[in-house]
Amino acid sequence: MNEPAPSIDPLQLARPDILALKPYSHASWNPTLERLHANELPWRVPGDASDAGLNRYPEPQPAALVQRLAALYGVAADQLLVGRGSDEGIDLLTRAFCRAGEDAVLICPPTFGMYAVAARIQGAKVVEVALDAARGFALDAERVNANLAGVKLVYLCTPNNPTGNAMDAAAIERVIRAASGRALVVIDEAYAEFCAAPSWAARIAVDPHVVVLRTLSKAHGLAGARIGSVLAAAPVIALLRRIIPPYALAQPTVEAALAALEPRQLEIMQLRRDDILRERARVAAALPAKACVRRVLPTEANFVLVEFDDAGAALARIAGAGLIVRDFRGLAGVREALRITIGTPTQNDRMLDSLT
Ligand SMILES: *Cc1c(COP(=O)(O)O)cnc(C)c1O
Repeated sequence: MNEPAPSIDPLQLARPDILALKPYSHASWNPTLERLHANELPWRVPGDASDAGLNRYPEPQPAALVQRLAALYGVAADQLLVGRGSDEGIDLLTRAFCRAGEDAVLICPPTFGMYAVAARIQGAKVVEVALDAARGFALDAERVNANLAGVKLVYLCTPNNPTGNAMDAAAIERVIRAASGRALVVIDEAYAEFCAAPSWAARIAVDPHVVVLRTLSKAHGLAGARIGSVLAAAPVIALLRRIIPPYALAQPTVEAALAALEPRQLEIMQLRRDDILRERARVAAALPAKACVRRVLPTEANFVLVEFDDAGAALARIAGAGLIVRDFRGLAGVREALRITIGTPTQNDRMLDSLT
């Protein structure tokens, strides 16, 4: 069942005008020479503690960071684009592959909002194939595959935000097969570190229409730094590198990410992740005992979607304890829903106590 699908050039799916675009030519990167070529000031500003100097334009696609991230995710350096969060990856994929007014993206709601927003900014259509609420928000691969006409990007979010469940690998497999030569399958693994299922990153070498999104914003604790990665076949990455703004990553962000990817920091990240997993189990076990809770959805992420009898009342009680959770009232399939991020043990206790 795993013999490779026929390998089809994913660039055939890209916008012809983007393929033909002459990219902005930024100041060449040659750290062995002193820089009189980019109209920078030659002195650092007072208080600048960065390694490279904030007076200098940063390295586009910083090689050291690309290497580290590629090693972390198990791909080659030319199969990874680093940008300002996965959000930038979503934006670049939409712009590179969807012609305004003609092409579409396919999303499986309820899911992460940026896929549709990026599509609408680009003028692309949005095809919706709902997750199957009756089957725990499972991916409906057959309905996805029946709706691929005009679609250039299929977004699969696993574990899914906001429902928390991971998608069945066999269902994802069926979508990958059906989309070959027709659309890119973009698998958003923002919460992969909290989930036991293996990453789909290994597939990009076999199926060049598979794209994986990863981020340092969640388990790695760097949401404020804005670092996300697109993993894809090298020609797709080369295309995205042509349209990403020339100095997209700020120098302090690059240095923060490099520090966070040191082996010692990665060990600490794993311990923190384990803390979150323990707290997640504790919160998920404690919530059903609350009289106001109707249902706690199974989760493989660092949040839990909870259905209440009256989500508005629960929101107010949680706010009364000084905490804010995400209001998902009106969500198809779980109408009275709140999404609660797993916090510190003390924060989780305050949240649980407020519902007693
Ligand atoms: C948080 C989140 C992201 C955004 O990540 P950034 O890297 O911070 O832009 C992407 N996808 C999903 C599903 C998310 O929940």
